[in-house]
Amino acid sequence: MTVTADPRVTPSSAGLDAGSLKIMLQAITDYIRDAIPDARLLQLDHDDECPIDVVRGMCSDELGIQLLFIPEEYGGMGGDTIDVYRVCEQMARCDVGVATSVLATFLGSDPIFVGATPEQKRQWLTEIAERGVLYAYGATEPEAGSDLAALKTTASPVRTGDVVTGYRLSGRKQWISNGGIADKYTILASAPGGPSWFVLDRGTEGFTQNKPEDKHGIRLSNTAALFLDGAIVPPGNLVGGVEGQGLVQAQKVFGYTRLMVAAFGLGGGWSALDRAIAYSTTRIQGGAPLAQKQGYTHKLIVPHAVRLEAARAVIESVAARIDAGEGADGALNTEGAIAKYLATEAGNMAADAAIQAHGGYGYTREYLVEKIKRDVRITTIYEGTSEIMEMTIARDRWQQHLKSGGRYYADAAGRLRGLDTRRPEVGAGIAALACGALAWVLEACRAGRLTRNQHVLLRLGELIAFAEGAGCLANRAATALDGALPEKADHRFDGPAIAAMSRVFARDAAQKVACDGLRLVVGGGGASAGGGSPRESGLELDAILAAQAGLLTDLDRVADALYGRSGPAQPTAHAATGGM
Ligand SMILES: Cc1cc2nc3c(=O)[nH]c(=O)nc-3n(C[C@H](O)[C@H](O)[C@H](O)COP(=O)(O)OP(=O)(O)OC[C@H]3O[C@@H](n4cnc5c(N)ncnc54)[C@H](O)[C@@H]3O)c2cc1C
Repeated sequence: MTVTADPRVTPSSAGLDAGSLKIMLQAITDYIRDAIPDARLLQLDHDDECPIDVVRGMCSDELGIQLLFIPEEYGGMGGDTIDVYRVCEQMARCDVGVATSVLATFLGSDPIFVGATPEQKRQWLTEIAERGVLYAYGATEPEAGSDLAALKTTASPVRTGDVVTGYRLSGRKQWISNGGIADKYTILASAPGGPSWFVLDRGTEGFTQNKPEDKHGIRLSNTAALFLDGAIVPPGNLVGGVEGQGLVQAQKVFGYTRLMVAAFGLGGGWSALDRAIAYSTTRIQGGAPLAQKQGYTHKLIVPHAVRLEAARAVIESVAARIDAGEGADGALNTEGAIAKYLATEAGNMAADAAIQAHGGYGYTREYLVEKIKRDVRITTIYEGTSEIMEMTIARDRWQQHLKSGGRYYADAAGRLRGLDTRRPEVGAGIAALACGALAWVLEACRAGRLTRNQHVLLRLGELIAFAEGAGCLANRAATALDGALPEKADHRFDGPAIAAMSRVFARDAAQKVACDGLRLVVGGGGASAGGGSPRESGLELDAILAAQAGLLTDLDRVADALYGRSGPAQPTAHAATGGM
């Protein structure tokens, strides 16, 4: 079988123009805010009810979001990856549950994008564009979650003589978004030739859906188990017409789909943080607004804004690379995993801090941060848990470290030092220290054979994500200072503010990689890479500590940017890198 190129991960169009994207982002906000004002949002959350009318309205002529995800040749608008990330973030800012319901159709149609025949694509994608058909993506099973290869659902060929006249699907799917409300379902099942995707219509005999799950969050999204008791689909509903391609097809779009869930983490996190920022300007404690209390802003607001913007830098970098054609055949799956990991963990922490920032009011339902916190939590679980992201990231970069003879992050550090020479104010020199420390930690782990411990491997995944996040944010800051951020990128913060955030994040990443990494190496009983003390063998601990100089001033600068205050002037090159 020829697997046709996936229009979602190969450049097929330039996407929307910047003006149209802006209009669409505003239309999404207006539509959701009109249809579900805060009072209805809280009521639906309380009643655990999916606003099906709103989801269908968004995915039909009323709002037409489905058109963004469908290529022009099938009647859509062919949004590019930047468009889709911006739209996903905006939907999640309004409600992560509603955003999940909308995205479920596009996850559900992913196997079609990646693996269907041209005729199947024309039929199934056109009806999404024209009729707003809702899909659900049925991969997970009660005993096959992170490990999809353990799936038990079967697809047995039904034969008349030698001719396959259908497939009989039997098994159970668990936690399926839109499970109770979709029109069509893509179901992963084991055929004789291996795991394969099938398109199944609602109403097929032998196919039933359970009642909605009583969930911790995203209670506006319908999640239900699916029961397949010998439901028969025609042979033409085998996606791509050849058995055994299912897991490959699922893998192929992870770089893209995880980016969209990353955008949910960003949207949810910023939605909570913006509420906390607004609250802190009016809440007077100790004689002044909380916004003026450094102990409040520099703990509960600023670090979270910085982490979210580091994640945004990764998302925008991966989106640009996918749109440039680099994402084919899962080539950017690791980068997608880094984006998802950083953004969803940051979103979750930001929402938690937003509750604290509201004090007792945050702990009640009225201020919505309590709901947002419950909602955004799912982003660290679905579409691959954070631990699976850590494993994905660590395994790939570990291989890169070995293949390059330990040069992978040393080279990355070199490139960042080059950027530091050109733009000393963006923290690239500190990000280079983070990458240098990472190269040291990886080499020490290799010498001590420490990645035999799964704990070490997964913690390396976190350190790698931080180091790469620091590099991406430094590059984004430089691009912003050059006035060269793409028009469709997020423009909330100006170059100097992004540069201040970058310096803060890079300091955090460098000290985390060095200190946590060293702790793992020592804790695992590993020898230092050079046989001597970490300092003698090249871990630049002193430089990393020296680079923390200027941290408080930069935290002040970020706070000023967040609160729209005029702050101190930008640092000189010398101060920006802590005197190095
Ligand atoms: C609200 C909601 C909506 C969802 N929507 C969909 C959907 O539309 N379609 C769909 O197919 N699925 C969906 N899912 C399923 C979701 O993708 C899975 O829940 C997720 O992949 C984790 O699988 P699991 O729940 O079986 O957990 P498990 O895989 O059992 O994981 C349990 C814990 O163990 C960790 N873990 C797992 N494997 C390892 C390992 N090898 N090493 C170390 N730690 C490990 C995990 O990180 C996690 O912390 C949804 C889930 C929820 C809750």
